[in-house]
Amino acid sequence: MDANAGNDRPRNRIVVLGSTGSIGTSTLDVAAHLPGRIEVVGISGHSRIDLLLEQAHEVRPRFVCLTDPTVSLDPSLLPTGCELLRGADGIARMVTDPGVDTVVSAIVGAAGLEGTWAALEAGKTVAVANKETLVLAGQLVTELAARTGGRLLPVDSEHSAIFQAIQGASIREVERVVLTGSGGPFRGKTIADLEKVTVEQALKHPTWSMGRKITIDSATLMNKALEVIEARWLFGLPAERIDVIIHPQSIIHSFVEFRDGAVLAQLSPPDMRLPIQYALTYPERLPGPARKLAWRDLSAWHFEQPDHETFPSLQLGYEVARRGGTCGAVLNAANEVAVSRFLAGELSFLDIPRACRAALDQHDYDPRPTLAELAACDRWARQEASRWINRTHRTVRIS
Ligand code: NAD
Ligand code: MG
Repeated sequence: MDANAGNDRPRNRIVVLGSTGSIGTSTLDVAAHLPGRIEVVGISGHSRIDLLLEQAHEVRPRFVCLTDPTVSLDPSLLPTGCELLRGADGIARMVTDPGVDTVVSAIVGAAGLEGTWAALEAGKTVAVANKETLVLAGQLVTELAARTGGRLLPVDSEHSAIFQAIQGASIREVERVVLTGSGGPFRGKTIADLEKVTVEQALKHPTWSMGRKITIDSATLMNKALEVIEARWLFGLPAERIDVIIHPQSIIHSFVEFRDGAVLAQLSPPDMRLPIQYALTYPERLPGPARKLAWRDLSAWHFEQPDHETFPSLQLGYEVARRGGTCGAVLNAANEVAVSRFLAGELSFLDIPRACRAALDQHDYDPRPTLAELAACDRWARQEASRWINRTHRTVRIS
């Protein structure tokens, strides 16, 4: 077989939103290995100006977008022919450009929604790593894609695994999908063990190297909760047909059980460059930079059921996947606030899901919100979570 197969195909011209992050840098690495197939037309970063500039000189894109309004960048430092764009308008300009085929949505948090929305509105393909967008507005985002002919391709390893396993089949033939999760750094711990967890301990993920927010989400199992909701929207499956199983080796990235009882899975070492590449070369498979399985080192793979008592976040995900409406916006926003307060040393680990529970309980449920109503819900939930955290921590200090 020709190792360069596919190089005669048209290049996929991509924009990488959040190019300075973990997914963003892995995406640029994949692109560097497939110069005949992937061309980087635009990149965006929020801070880390030095890295953004370094990437601009390496990749020589047409556009560089700086999103943080408080940070300045001298345009003369960019390579010639590279246009400096700013903020949300800059993102919209870049992702809607007629010379762009695919937008890699790799900004962290609800901040990723605008770029994804603009790209889908313009009928582009979106390789979606930013799961928060689907948690917050999955129904509207998938409806928009259906309307414009825009396409959502999964990058999250579990959803990519499912997408890979259902190739050649119809989603109607799927009985259930089973998302695997490593269990995070605190697998096997009890609530008492987690009482005094430090930020440093929570940031030590056993198998994946990722940005700080998703690493904390993995420790609380909120990441798996968000992924249940993500699967609900990406594959149009009800929550009852989405299961979660703990698999600490992170080699099997998910299972698909078909109606006849056959189960297919996708396996590879924990390396995001594989699902990123699959989304960018789909439906082709090409040689790329992702690590390969070391067959001689393989031994037993382990599975266990998630511990819902110690990690209540997962049930919040199921509840939100079932109820839909405004629930996703509330859960996502409360979690973003709680994680950033935990990272700042202002909230205990066990209080992260409690802050989310409190916001969900307080909110005015609407089953069919508009985008503007979801944005309002996001703002309300951030305030509500902050209020809950401030109140709870005052009580803790007094007692
Ligand atoms: P990261 O923190 O490493 O990178 C985030 C990127 O977003 C950076 O480029 C940063 O400059 C940019 N950014 C941050 N705040 C922004 C804002 N307000 N406006 C615009 N840009 C902003 O995060 P990551 O680990 O690369 O994760 C990115 C997304 O991909 C998340 O939604 C995460 O859940 C998802 N994801 C990540 C992994 C992984 O292995 N890292 C796996 C699956 C899914
Ligand atoms: Mg994942």
